[in-house]
Amino acid sequence: MTTILRTIAEVRAWRDQVPSGERVALVPTMGALHAGHMSLMELARRRAGVTIASIFVNPLQFGPSEDLSKYPRPVEHDIALLKAAGIDAVFLPPVDELYPDDASTFVVEESVSLPLCGAVRPGHFRGVATVVLKLFNIVTPDLAVFGQKDAQQCVVIERMVRDLNLRIDIVRGLIVREPDGLALSSRNIYLGEADRRAAPAIFASLEAARRAFEGGERNADALAAIGRAILAAEPRIKLQYWEIRHPESLELIETIGPAGALFAVAAHLGATRLIDNYLARTA
Ligand code: AMP
Repeated sequence: MTTILRTIAEVRAWRDQVPSGERVALVPTMGALHAGHMSLMELARRRAGVTIASIFVNPLQFGPSEDLSKYPRPVEHDIALLKAAGIDAVFLPPVDELYPDDASTFVVEESVSLPLCGAVRPGHFRGVATVVLKLFNIVTPDLAVFGQKDAQQCVVIERMVRDLNLRIDIVRGLIVREPDGLALSSRNIYLGEADRRAAPAIFASLEAARRAFEGGERNADALAAIGRAILAAEPRIKLQYWEIRHPESLELIETIGPAGALFAVAAHLGATRLIDNYLARTA
């Protein structure tokens, strides 16, 4: 049975009846669930006896010119998917349940949230870190599952957990893709036909760089040039960044060393912004 929870008090009452020996896994989402989200739900079920998903389109992480009002909200369908997946509870708070009008305390990470998406979406990771800490405090999970699709988000959350001494294990789920390589995203439905046909070039650019890396290339500029060249050949794609960074500090690197590297891409197709990445490992 899946319990629907709408208030913080309801979540706390639900949490209080979980037997103390059971591990609780939280999967935060913004809804419009697809197979990528559902793979995180399965991972949560494998790692914990009790699972809870949240669906909350967090206004704090959207910029003023972004797609908050038109973000898809197929709530009944989402609930049906979570029920079918055997998720124990769903937290669906209204905005004013999480943000009183005079809320004035926020979580600001000051290093790994600055480059990449942080540089082009000011305030985004402040919104993400704030809502995730709030969800952690409301649910008090033992572990929380995030997708590698949003690699920088994972790094920011892991940094917050370390720096603020949160007793929560962060588990990363692999990126789920369409057969042609396009990473699943709730925003893919915005793509027109021609843009949808062009979109797999983002993955292809990562694959080309991956092949060169696996062939022994360790120079970050050379690898990034390979990736950028693939996207330059696709006029519908407006590249925002294609960068190679240290996987934990997110600093730019010249040469890929033992820590490996994060290859990260963001691009616009029309008005739709897509991100993707590849985590290069040396071991
Ligand atoms: P969102 O609803 O976009 O906030 O995403 C909720 C969670 O699902 C985040 O941890 C995302 O990283 C993850 N996610 C989104 N797309 C994918 C995907 N294609 N594969 C795996 N996880 C994903």
